[in-house]
Amino acid sequence: DLLVVGSANADLVIGVERRPAPGETVLGSDLAVHPGGKGANQAVAAARLGARTALLARVGDDAHGRLLLDSQRAAGVDTGAVRVGGAPTGVALITVDPSGDNSIVVSPGANARLTPDDIRDAAGLFARARVVSAQLEIPLETVTEAVRARAAGSRFVLNPSPPRPLPAEVLTACDPLVLNEHEARFVLGGDGLDGKDPEGRARALLALGARSVVVTLGAEGALVAEGGGTAVRVPSPRVGAVDTTGAGDAFTAALAWRLGRGEDLVTAAAFAVRVGAAAVTKEGAQASFPTAGEVAAL
Ligand code: ADP
Repeated sequence: DLLVVGSANADLVIGVERRPAPGETVLGSDLAVHPGGKGANQAVAAARLGARTALLARVGDDAHGRLLLDSQRAAGVDTGAVRVGGAPTGVALITVDPSGDNSIVVSPGANARLTPDDIRDAAGLFARARVVSAQLEIPLETVTEAVRARAAGSRFVLNPSPPRPLPAEVLTACDPLVLNEHEARFVLGGDGLDGKDPEGRARALLALGARSVVVTLGAEGALVAEGGGTAVRVPSPRVGAVDTTGAGDAFTAALAWRLGRGEDLVTAAAFAVRVGAAAVTKEGAQASFPTAGEVAAL
């Protein structure tokens, strides 16, 4: 089974002709409300592919929380461990201008109240999980507790987004660390900034202690690096990209699921690039995630 530990947000999206200046009001399009957040997205992506998936997250006792629980259940995710209350559901306030550029304000809300105690309370889920997948839209101490709570022999997958330097206890558990080049630069701090290609960044992340590394490269696919061997490029199928929102979440979910089924990292990544590519052919995040049949038809 796959256990996703992470965030759940309501994405509130308004189209604008231009952004307001300080003190100014502008009129926008009708409001669109979508379920989102990296944890919720990953869980839906995995379940839609057919993975037995549980989500450990926290939402508010409010309409946005119910929207998130409904979308998880509709995809077939086990929501028994989703905690409710303590703060309003996390929200991303998104304005989109005519060129497609986003401006986003995130209120973490209940995501910031997902605590190490919530992890300890979910011991049964951790005992059953072959793979635990996390991101960084929840407190780092909660992610660290998830590393500690894993059953022997289970695998830990981390997408360090939003990126920040990682404590050794977390980094050395990552198998793999899944990240794009922007995130790789941040996790590496000063070391990531100068003149490195993706292979160089992956090597540097392995040297820092990650057990394996997958760098996603957008339309170029992904780069897989494991200790010892040389890095392997896994190309993505060519598709007509419509909206890349959620592509990384779909990729990571697919990778985590296939690793849990015993595939090696390169084989799992070859499947995950197809899932990421399928996700960019449709608008939206969760709405764009493919079924296994849609991936096969790509
Ligand atoms: P993130 O959204 O986290 O920045 P990427 O943009 O690297 O992640 O995308 C994740 C995966 O989605 C890629 O590895 C690739 O398989 C797929 N993907 C993303 N953009 C495209 C694209 N334009 N064409 C084909 N596949 C894509």
